[in-house]
Amino acid sequence: MTAPVPADVISRLKAVLGPDGWSEDPDRIAPKLVEWRDRWVGTTPFLALPKSTADVAAVVGICFEAGQPITTQGGNTGLVGGQIPQGEVLLSTERLRTIREVEPYDDVLVAEAGVTLSQVHAAAADVRRRFPLGLASEGSATVGGVVSTNAGGTQVLRYGMTRNLVLGLEAVLPNGEVWNGLKRLRKDNTGYDLKQLLIGAEGTLGVVTAAALKLFPVMASRAVAMIGVATPEAALELLTRAKDETGGAVEAFELMGRLGVEFALRNIPGTRDPLAAPHSWYVLAEFASGEPGSAEGAMARFLEAGLEAGLIGDAVVAQSDSQARALWEIRENQSPAQKPEGATWKHDVAVPVSQVPAFLAETNQAMEAFAPRARIAAFGHVGDGNIHYDVLRPNGGSDAEHVARRDAGSRIVHDIVARLGGSISAEHGLGSMKTAEGARYKSDVELAAQRAIRLALDPKRILNPRVLF
Ligand SMILES: Cc1cc2nc3c(=O)[nH]c(=O)nc-3n(C[C@H](O)[C@H](O)[C@H](O)COP(=O)(O)OP(=O)(O)OC[C@H]3O[C@@H](n4cnc5c(N)ncnc54)[C@H](O)[C@@H]3O)c2cc1C
Repeated sequence: MTAPVPADVISRLKAVLGPDGWSEDPDRIAPKLVEWRDRWVGTTPFLALPKSTADVAAVVGICFEAGQPITTQGGNTGLVGGQIPQGEVLLSTERLRTIREVEPYDDVLVAEAGVTLSQVHAAAADVRRRFPLGLASEGSATVGGVVSTNAGGTQVLRYGMTRNLVLGLEAVLPNGEVWNGLKRLRKDNTGYDLKQLLIGAEGTLGVVTAAALKLFPVMASRAVAMIGVATPEAALELLTRAKDETGGAVEAFELMGRLGVEFALRNIPGTRDPLAAPHSWYVLAEFASGEPGSAEGAMARFLEAGLEAGLIGDAVVAQSDSQARALWEIRENQSPAQKPEGATWKHDVAVPVSQVPAFLAETNQAMEAFAPRARIAAFGHVGDGNIHYDVLRPNGGSDAEHVARRDAGSRIVHDIVARLGGSISAEHGLGSMKTAEGARYKSDVELAAQRAIRLALDPKRILNPRVLF
């Protein structure tokens, strides 16, 4: 727990923020102290609600001078606890809500940090453009949050992570200075790229106040299919064929095990079994193209060839937007559908795409030995080598007993990931939850370099002090 916030710091913050710019009301603050998975419960004596970049600069400047730690929070959808304060000043971006500009010639949208991803999508659509970052949390996740966590999602295969989708940033650095890097250049080779340092820094190197986001053309045709396959190897072979045969039209390629589909059928009202008979694994594939009719044609050819090759057990192609939505909901509900099933060890890991089958086989075997009756629900962005490998307590087992073994179980999973050349956090970040574990898998050279960068920008370590190295 961080030391109490001194009274003089609080009165200086109140003075710069004005009467609407802060809160000490426990009821107002309470929703910001718990996170989506109920794993982290925080505390703060003071919620700062800046409404402009100048306000953010004033708050950070006062705190820097006093050595007062701050935790920054956007939409509070982060899954590793980094946005939950433990006694620090809580800086919320909820009032930084302006979309400053949408410019189709530059294919850029400039949004303030508290704008949600859904609002970005809607503003881009208004000028017949799209911002291709899709998350199940997009109704709440904010621009500042996705930038700071370098969020991924379902379209990384084609468009990359947030890191690939940002042209410029505006941020308040830990000493309270404003850095205006809101460029919209596709080319800028003038030294270190500060924006890339801030992207994925999980709020440790600055408070992001606005971002210039890359827009893309709207697709004229789209095809979504749910495909039953026998093994992850078959899914990988299909992915390779899809990439080879569609000329880059693969927009998403997601893998789910049968158990996760059963959880969705049981726990998410309205879910229907996507195929006539159960399959061990399911691929949700989406192709999109700028040419009318082209994605549908490519999907039909791809499925026919896959069936002929014996790679596909069965498949269904969505015939309407609502059918496509229903198929996507099965995928997006993989995590929510686990909630009623009891305690889970969750892993957000990445391995080289070619190693996904080996990872699943080795880890399943290791879990069988370590937690024989546990239920494994693995799903994820197989096209990115990113698997959410979730180990649920045995049917009828005790949540407390399962939780007590979590760290040891996760260590086994992470060691396998490391041996296969992977990462223990593919897209959620390290936050408060995984920082110590993350340090185990970094070399001393890399840790020292990362600490040197942080110390140079934040010598008093005031920003998100419990997060990262
Ligand atoms: C149902 C569900 C599905 C999800 N799916 C995905 C997915 O597919 N891919 C994925 O990558 N993530 C996913 N997430 C995780 C989460 O949505 C992302 O990490 C998102 O980017 C967090 O945005 P946020 O605004 O909620 O940030 P918060 O949760 O508020 O904060 C997250 C981190 O960013 C920091 N931060 C927030 N705003 C700022 C700012 N303005 N300046 C500096 N630091 C800041 C916080 O301090 C914290 O460390 C999912 C979450 C849920 C609940």
